[in-house]
Amino acid sequence: MAINCQKGPSPMAIKEIIMEDCLFCKIIKGEIPSSKVYEDDEILAFKDIAPAAPVHILVIPKKHIKSLVELEKEDEALIGKIYTVINKIAKEQGVSESGYRVIVNCGKDAGQEVMHLHFHLLAGTQFGEKIV
Ligand code: 5GP
Ligand code: ZN
Repeated sequence: MAINCQKGPSPMAIKEIIMEDCLFCKIIKGEIPSSKVYEDDEILAFKDIAPAAPVHILVIPKKHIKSLVELEKEDEALIGKIYTVINKIAKEQGVSESGYRVIVNCGKDAGQEVMHLHFHLLAGTQFGEKIV
């Protein structure tokens, strides 16, 4: 009986394949253009291509994290830093006083379309309907 000793790709290799195919990873690498509003070694923020409000900025970690579901203990500081960056961008955009909303869609039922963790910063209008 023939035994199939072939192993599949390692989890790291699979992650690399996913990253190569990830829209936001391509934006991070500059392979797809974006309108950047903030960048440091860990975080990138750019204007949403289809804005749902006068100010609609996506704030993302440069590390490929699929969604909130995939967060690890080691990411805690990074997520804290993202909120500090959101605060800074809101001030720069002049919406700190008027207010803003931060949304993270996680998974299918929330309608997450791009599987790279991102924070929507929305502002510049009075938001009507509230879910919560
Ligand atoms: P989600 O529905 O996953 O929470 O949000 C994905 C967001 O990415 C959407 O608001 C969509 O407009 C935005 N988006 C999709 N493709 C691109 C793109 O190529 N460039 C930019 N700047 N935003 C994009
Ligand atoms: Zn990615």
